[in-house]
Amino acid sequence: MTVIGLGAMGKALAAAFLAAGHPTTVWNRSAGKADSLVADGAIQAATITEAVTASPIVVVCLLDYPVLHEILEPVGDTLAGRALVNLTNGTPDQARETAGWARGRGADYLDGGIMAVPAMIGRPEARVLYSGSRPVFDQYEGTLNRLGTARYVGADHGLASLYDLALLSAMYGQFAGASHALALVRTEKADLTEFASSLLAPWLTATTVALPLLAEQNDTGTQAGEESASPPDMQAVAIANIVTASNAQNVDKALLSHLFVPLRDLIGRPAHDRDLAGMVDLIKKPQE
Ligand code: NDP
Repeated sequence: MTVIGLGAMGKALAAAFLAAGHPTTVWNRSAGKADSLVADGAIQAATITEAVTASPIVVVCLLDYPVLHEILEPVGDTLAGRALVNLTNGTPDQARETAGWARGRGADYLDGGIMAVPAMIGRPEARVLYSGSRPVFDQYEGTLNRLGTARYVGADHGLASLYDLALLSAMYGQFAGASHALALVRTEKADLTEFASSLLAPWLTATTVALPLLAEQNDTGTQAGEESASPPDMQAVAIANIVTASNAQNVDKALLSHLFVPLRDLIGRPAHDRDLAGMVDLIKKPQE
């Protein structure tokens, strides 16, 4: 294995390969970051060319795609015949462009998205999404599983990025809502830790049960109908009450703003009786 990029995540990836017994060559702009890995048996490449040519599979985990191209373009020809696995966070278009660039250099390209923090790497609850070259995934699946549960999501090189960003957007939305909740409760000098562990976390866990149903309503276009248990009119009242209470408690409502426009637009629309499932259609722009 070769691992290029030894930031917080790259170091964890290289450490997981070493722990699994894979001979691992590493390279990083700031060479000192390799010290602990070298102590654990990694080989430190002196140059990027040496790093790429050391292994049939090159795993890259850098700050962003421009940095990846800055580092790899000067040595692009050395990628011929190798598998390039890029775990750098980026957009679907960046992944597709990089796949085309790698193809032009004779490399087989697998793009990836890491759904974990460094401390989780090497454990099954860390999930890593992959898209692009199926032959690379099949050949190295066992090795990639050492980083976390490896999941192939499709041949389109942009899919792993798309799923990664979708999952992150859900996470950031959840953290924004949870931060607002904590800010509200803190105004009354309540025990935040107790509130979070005994009420907030179980509540959020319980609400996730509704997500597959919400997705299914969008997949099939089926509506909740008159029996809808949580119609938007009712939800609008609750949200208005949250805003009023937040103002009264002197808590800024900026973190809730993502709810206002879609919910307002949902009321009185054909999607009216579809619960919050209708929000997905409302924010999706028509294809150009
Ligand atoms: P770090 O900031 O810790 O590391 C960034 C890496 O990029 C380092 O290897 C750094 O080298 C290198 N780098 C930055 N700029 C340049 C440059 N101009 N030239 C050469 N090398 C450069 O980030 P992470 O390791 O945490 O993140 C790496 C990727 O992993 C990102 O895409 C991130 O989104 C993804 N990721 C990270 C997670 C996390 O919790 N950390 C979670 C999931 C995904 P140097 O050491 O020399 O500065």
